[in-house]
Amino acid sequence: MPGEGTPTWSGDVLVVGAGPAALSIASELGTRGVSLAAIAPQDPTAPWPNTYGIWSEEVDALGLGHLLSHRWSNTVSYFGPGGPATGEGADRDGLIHHGRAYGLFDKAALQQHWLDRCAQAGICWHRGQASAIHHEAIASIVSTSSGEILQASLVVDATGHDPVFVVRGSDGPVAGQAAYGIVGRFSADPIPSEQFVFMDYRSDHLSDAERREPPTFLYAMDLGEGIFFVEETSLALAPPVPFPALQARLHRRLAHRGVAVREVMHEEFCLFPMNPPLPDLHQRVVGFGGAGGLVHPASGYMVGSLLRRAPDLAAAIAGALETGLRGQELAEAAWAGLWNPELRWKHAFFRFGLEKLMRFDEARLRHHFATFFRLPLQQWSGFLSNTLPPPDLLQAMVALYGQAPWDVRWGLMGLRGREGKLLLAMLSGWANSA
Ligand SMILES: Cc1cc2nc3c(=O)[nH]c(=O)nc-3n(C[C@H](O)[C@H](O)[C@H](O)COP(=O)(O)OP(=O)(O)OC[C@H]3O[C@@H](n4cnc5c(N)ncnc54)[C@H](O)[C@@H]3O)c2cc1C
Repeated sequence: MPGEGTPTWSGDVLVVGAGPAALSIASELGTRGVSLAAIAPQDPTAPWPNTYGIWSEEVDALGLGHLLSHRWSNTVSYFGPGGPATGEGADRDGLIHHGRAYGLFDKAALQQHWLDRCAQAGICWHRGQASAIHHEAIASIVSTSSGEILQASLVVDATGHDPVFVVRGSDGPVAGQAAYGIVGRFSADPIPSEQFVFMDYRSDHLSDAERREPPTFLYAMDLGEGIFFVEETSLALAPPVPFPALQARLHRRLAHRGVAVREVMHEEFCLFPMNPPLPDLHQRVVGFGGAGGLVHPASGYMVGSLLRRAPDLAAAIAGALETGLRGQELAEAAWAGLWNPELRWKHAFFRFGLEKLMRFDEARLRHHFATFFRLPLQQWSGFLSNTLPPPDLLQAMVALYGQAPWDVRWGLMGLRGREGKLLLAMLSGWANSA
């Protein structure tokens, strides 16, 4: 039975994992004087595999702008069909200048930033794979695959999108954001020099039949010195768009612009769930990051949320420990600190929105985004970072509806599939958050 034997460590909080979520919450808990350990199969200094991008203002607002390795002020998207102009002045590209800087994390610097804070707090790192958990009235006992036993008042599961201990419920198929990307050198610049392309939805390289398939877009960065990152991305689909399809589309898109890949320095295979329901907030293990449902269900972003919300979760845990809460009460206080009613309502809102977008065909999706990114900057950026209060979010969506062409409006009206259920969840969440 898990938990039998003498624990090799015993304290307030055990963080499971060593990814961005684990390090961010561990570093915040450490600064609050919580006695803390973390466990992961790899050395916590091992390099992370993913590239993490973010709108620069989000890190600047936290005083962490120095953690970006690249910053682009020339940020654009394309929401036109693409192809040669058919009439005078016809804008086939649908070019939009975002007027807002985008950044790429120096992921080693971000990791070191959190590790330094963990070290200052004297966090105790254990190496191993957490494999079983057993709860007693006031403590949880975790065993590892190598037989180590760790005991804590609270366990924070930060093991990513398929968590080891947090139970994620299901209410239907989960959409995945899928992307295939290359960092490399090319026969010609795939995008203009010093530019960041957030979404290039032009589809003139595809046949009519292919345009009826699930839409994908290009996300691309000029990394300098002749190196570019180009990634073909499907915002969300259940089941996800397969990697070979994304890879083929990326090469088609590049070839259409007369660009060939000369050297592949790194390939990125990106796949993570976008819209699972929130975990049950009454379970004994608290989740953070992918495990805690922090991915923005309509955009896929998460790192900004980790930075903004780790302090709230850490404060809730430290406060509850200080007032003597233990066991179930401690876990519930932590979950409540992470997911207040307002955030829960917004999660339901974004899930409903994504469900709508996933039904949009290629042209309608382009029209939708062209309208969305013409909203005032504070509205579209607040939507993407999940920082708008609910009334402002609703105001932004009313504005979007008012300015959208009719095909988008029709697409937003009516309820299909599980949209009714998601709408009901959103409405009942509104009542609780008001
Ligand atoms: C390729 C890719 C690119 C992405 N790009 C962005 C982006 O640009 N911007 C953005 O905001 N988001 C992005 N995301 C989404 C999200 O931010 C990432 O998925 C992020 O890595 C999730 O962080 P996490 O710490 O929750 O999980 P992970 O990064 O998956 O870390 C999980 C950790 O738990 C450990 N672990 C797993 N099982 C156990 C176990 N049993 N015991 C102990 N430890 C265990 C793992 O070793 C790892 O250390 C991207 C996702 C992917 C896949």
